[in-house]
This record gives sequence, C-alpha cells and structure tokens, in this order.
Amino acid sequence: MKPRPLPKTVAPLPDELLSGWLSRLAAANYCDDAELLAHIEIDTTHGSSLDFNIDAAAVDKISGAARTDPNTVRSLAFSKMTLSETLLTARVPFQSCRECSRRGLSLKQWRRAWAFDCQVCGTRLVQTLGKPGDEQLSEKLRNRARRGAGVLECAARSGCTKRFRRAMRAVTFAMSLKSCHGEPLFALQSHKQEVRLFCLAAIDAAQYRPLVKAAISSSSIDDYARVALLRAFEKEPRLLAAVDLIAQRRARSIGPMAAESHN
Ligand SMILES: [Zn+2]
Repeated sequence: MKPRPLPKTVAPLPDELLSGWLSRLAAANYCDDAELLAHIEIDTTHGSSLDFNIDAAAVDKISGAARTDPNTVRSLAFSKMTLSETLLTARVPFQSCRECSRRGLSLKQWRRAWAFDCQVCGTRLVQTLGKPGDEQLSEKLRNRARRGAGVLECAARSGCTKRFRRAMRAVTFAMSLKSCHGEPLFALQSHKQEVRLFCLAAIDAAQYRPLVKAAISSSSIDDYARVALLRAFEKEPRLLAAVDLIAQRRARSIGPMAAESHN
C-alpha cells in the first residue's frame, strides 16, 4: 500500500540535492525530516542517506507522496559520475552558500570539491564548519584558487586520469608546504579555508610553471615536504631527478645549513 500524498508539496529547484529538497518538503508540511520519512515509510531517519544511494522503491514512495515525477526525484540524488567526479564529491557537506542556505536550499554543486561560487546566486561558498574571518586571505590567492577550481572541474568532468593525477600531484605538494597531512582529496574538502584555497591555487600554478620549482623558491623545504615530494613524483623518476637538482642548487646557494636538510 502506497503512503497517502502529503498535504503540501514543493517543486525541486535545478541541481537541488535530494536531502535538501526533502527537508523543504518536511518544513512545508510542518514536520521534521524523520517524521516525513516515517510517513513515506522509508526506513531511515536522515534524508542524506538517500543522496548517494536511492533504490526504485524509495523513488516510488517519495514521488507518490510528493506528487512529483519519479525521474525528477531520482535526478536529485548523485548518479552516473566518472571516477574522478565520485572522488571529488563529498559524502557530507563541507561548504555552502550563506545566501541560499538561509532560504533552505542545498545544492549538489556545493558537495563538489571544485565548486567555488554558488551557481544559483554567485556568492562565494564558505566552509560549513570553518571559523569565520577568512577575509584576511588575499584576493590574489582567492582568484588563483578560483581558477584552480575551474581546472579541477575540467579534469573531473573529462574523466581524463592524466589531468586528474596532475591536479592531485599539485595538491599533494601544496599540502606539504602547509604541513597538512593526509589525503589530497580531504585537503580539497578541508574545513580550513586556507588549506583548501592554497591547494586549489596550486592546481592553477601547476598549469603554467613547473610546480616544484615554484614551490621550492617560495618556501624552504622540510622533511615532510621531502616525503610528499617523493610520494607525489614516485612514478616520474625524471621529474623527481629534476626536482632534486633544483633543490641541490638552491641548497648550495643558501649555504651548508640548508644543504644538510636536503640530504
Ligand atoms: Zn547561493
């Protein structure tokens, strides 16, 4: 037996995320998410568990209760992504648009590691858990990060593993300069605005000039950076040799103290 249709329905907006739309649906019907899902007879208390994995039965129940086309309901969940897109799509919210959130909106776009400005209103996205006060970050860094985000999006959408690897290598290196440990994918979804922007900016920098050269000349290299370097370039011995050469020359020009740290 199908659940009764809800008294009120709301039309999904373009690119709206399923769980966000379900929350708006719940609010329109004066209940919370868990009550809504119980009414629709879906065995979960959080709509977010459906965002990445919704079966035909759940689509049917929601579409009936909300009087909305099943294909529209299905399109609100993430599906048919390239491997790079999947890796760069956050399972939990890490950034949002302040303007649109106030109106109860939640977009799929915000989950993408490459999303920078809100596609609905153009406002720059902000970290969900981050501290406010990122205004001290320079305009130059922000602009460069915005360009890097564009490069990352092209790499992910094209499904080109070479471009994706190149972007991740830039991120790995940027992380080493920020003494940020862990996986590049997580750094791109970092709640620290500075880390995320720096990593995106590095993707842009890697487009125009040898990344390593740029990085070495902008910051002295420590042991962690050295390990990150090896990790980032392990499959490219020639590139690593070139990096080593730059590091050695630089060490010689700085003096014995610096040279020791490279050995
Ligand atoms: Zn917005």
